[in-house]
Amino acid sequence: MNFNTKVIHGGQHHESATGSVNVPVFLTSTFAQKSPGIHSGYEYSRAANPTRQALEDSLASIENGARGLAFGSGLAAIDCVLKLLNPGDEVIAVDDLYGGTYRMFVRLFEKYQLKFTFVNFDDVSKIADLITDKTKLIWLETPTNPLMKLVDIKAVTDLVKGKDILVAVDNTFASPYIQRPLDLGADIVMHSATKYLGGHSDVIAGALIAKDAELGEKLHFIQFASGGILGPHDSYLVLRGIKTLALRMQRHSDNGLEIAKYLENHPAVEKVFYPGLKSHPQHDLALKQMKESGGMVSFTFKSGKKEDAIKFLEKLKVFTLAESLGGVESLANHPALMTHASIPAEKRAELGITDDLVRLSVGIEDKDDLIADLERAFA
Ligand SMILES: *Cc1c(COP(=O)(O)O)cnc(C)c1O
Repeated sequence: MNFNTKVIHGGQHHESATGSVNVPVFLTSTFAQKSPGIHSGYEYSRAANPTRQALEDSLASIENGARGLAFGSGLAAIDCVLKLLNPGDEVIAVDDLYGGTYRMFVRLFEKYQLKFTFVNFDDVSKIADLITDKTKLIWLETPTNPLMKLVDIKAVTDLVKGKDILVAVDNTFASPYIQRPLDLGADIVMHSATKYLGGHSDVIAGALIAKDAELGEKLHFIQFASGGILGPHDSYLVLRGIKTLALRMQRHSDNGLEIAKYLENHPAVEKVFYPGLKSHPQHDLALKQMKESGGMVSFTFKSGKKEDAIKFLEKLKVFTLAESLGGVESLANHPALMTHASIPAEKRAELGITDDLVRLSVGIEDKDDLIADLERAFA
């Protein structure tokens, strides 16, 4: 099956009792048994629920994995991966991580004696020197937020081939329409399904997809034992979102590229961060590992002034000034004051998150209306 078919049919079947074409929302905590221990395959909804199961099968299908798991948030999914580890284990992670991931690693899991090293993955050969016999997990995010840096997933998985080290990729920004890390050798894909998978800014959800069934079973055990599952109604919303993922991601990408080009030619703009532009330092890698470049575009002002960024954001009408991303509607964000405010100012400066940086989540509206909105705000 090709991807455009998988988003609709992958892992899906009509409901067996009635033939219902859509998976019903199974609002039930428990399931009747014929005789003690003899049941339909479902016992209690923390372990498995048919609506969540349909979503999990869809997730496995679209990421080319053996097992999908759906969680109450993206962070609950990451929490599950870290619980594979034991005290003393070491994790190497990208330095430009989603803030909530960084917060969980450092403020929750360091106290359980996990050791985290945060590094720039621009030169993957340098990562080899950081690997010790205690390294058990490499945590990647590509593209990163908000500076759209890329990591060469294949180069990282080649580096650890044959070693007892898992490679996990947060694929939230790209979505499987654009990039499929398991095909590039990764072991686990993670999503904030709140973003592009859900796609309509109406649900908080997370996902893991494991390359092989054995690892999938270990992750399921942790999910079942820790309890961070996604409820049936939210599972239905994400499953419904996935059905239009291919259509949406293509439009997000088409609009994203148009807007990135528009910004690059605008006299008030200093720098545009978008992997689909030839000026992006890793444009060749984008062509290699991504089908399209998605809907996230960041830029800075020629003036370098924070006030210009703020004034610009206040004037937008079609773009909504809000945190989050990946929905059908366009959003604009000031990372230094909003999504990345919890990162200390010096650390932000080190990463390049300046006070004149604006991040756009380009939606699926008409591109001319979006560009007119930006033009008005610049004026
Ligand atoms: C939003 C986000 C998360 C966290 O997901 P939640 O659903 O908010 O818990 C993790 N990684 C990335 C890249 C995100 O954008």
